Amino acid sequence: MYKVMAVNAGSSSLKYKLYEMPEEKVLCSGNCERIGHEDGIFGLKYGDKKVREILPILDHAKGVELVIDALIKYGIIESLEEIKCVGHRVVQGGKYFSKSAEFNEDTEKKVTELIPLDPLHAPAHLTGFHAFKEALPHADAIAVFDTAYHQSMEPEDYVYPIPYEMSEKYDCRRYGAHGTSHNYLADKAIADYFGGKAEGTRIITCHIGSGSSLAAIKDGKCVATSMGLTPLGGVMMGTRTGDLDPSVMDYLCTCTGKSVDEMYDIFNKKSGFLGVSGVSNDTRDVEEAANQGNERAKLAIKLFARTVANFIAQYYVRLGGADMIIFSAGIGENSDTFRAAILKNVEEALGLSVDYEANKGIHGTQGLISKKDSKIMVSVIPTDEEVMIARDCYKKIQGVL
Ligand code: ADP
Repeated sequence: MYKVMAVNAGSSSLKYKLYEMPEEKVLCSGNCERIGHEDGIFGLKYGDKKVREILPILDHAKGVELVIDALIKYGIIESLEEIKCVGHRVVQGGKYFSKSAEFNEDTEKKVTELIPLDPLHAPAHLTGFHAFKEALPHADAIAVFDTAYHQSMEPEDYVYPIPYEMSEKYDCRRYGAHGTSHNYLADKAIADYFGGKAEGTRIITCHIGSGSSLAAIKDGKCVATSMGLTPLGGVMMGTRTGDLDPSVMDYLCTCTGKSVDEMYDIFNKKSGFLGVSGVSNDTRDVEEAANQGNERAKLAIKLFARTVANFIAQYYVRLGGADMIIFSAGIGENSDTFRAAILKNVEEALGLSVDYEANKGIHGTQGLISKKDSKIMVSVIPTDEEVMIARDCYKKIQGVL
């Protein structure tokens, strides 16, 4: 039995989950929020107990110190030596990583080099890595990349039709994101619905939450995904546009007098559900507004459903058919209304027979929402990116990563 820590360091947060492997038993989990503030929030859950403290967490190192101290203080571990490996989520692995890697000097150099592709998260990942390395110098460290699972795409699925020299020189291409989640969902579906045999399976995964992406998965390997160079591309999201005609940038800069940077910020933070509805980035609020007759909220929901449906249809063709469509993440796991709105757009063309009653009963749990006579199974599967990180930590300990 080994204890391993899955870490997700964001710009102002540090999520963590301690596992006992190979049992995949969660010993505790939590989050340090508002890092950089005097009123930071330290959160911890273990067993049926919860801890929440408001205190200054001025940097990630302080967050890590709080986590480590709490593990001992609350008797979750007896000694720090028990933690054998720390797995760090890293959003962008660029062209370098098609699987998880030891977080050594070389990996650190590459992640640093990739900062321009992910200026929002990469510096936080590096800070989190250093803070844990200092606190647990004996433990192995690995990096688990959101992009890695998508590295199996063929050039036709990832090259942008820009001058090829630019693609090459600047590594400007589709990388995708949420790969760890898409990988988990495909593995789980293959284990639970296809007898553990990946070969021959054609799966479309819809990870739809505040960030959303879809993937087309053949024989357990990703062949296409909706996010692009960065997580701005693909379907409409909570605050992000998803795909646009590139002319929109130039046109709106000219119309508004705003700079490219300002407009880029609007595309990332003020668009999507928030921008279209004018209500909120949270789909629960948008749904409530729509129920009260807000026309822009209604439009936002229809637009989202249409863009997700368009990708499902595209991936159906890309895969030469499909055996399963999976819904996951905040919206996909919890909202029967959104699942129904999406499925209504594709059911006729794809020969789906959706069990709308079953759909209504699934919130945050796993289950099938298609009838037996449906040409494609439709399921809801709660995602678990942390357990994927823990599994790779275990592989590292076993020397088979
Ligand atoms: P993140 O990308 O931050 O991990 P999540 O996958 O947890 O996001 O998704 C969070 C989003 O999911 C919320 O902003 C909200 O829009 C949506 N969501 C969560 N629960 C529900 C629900 N019951 N109904 C509709 N939408 C929901």
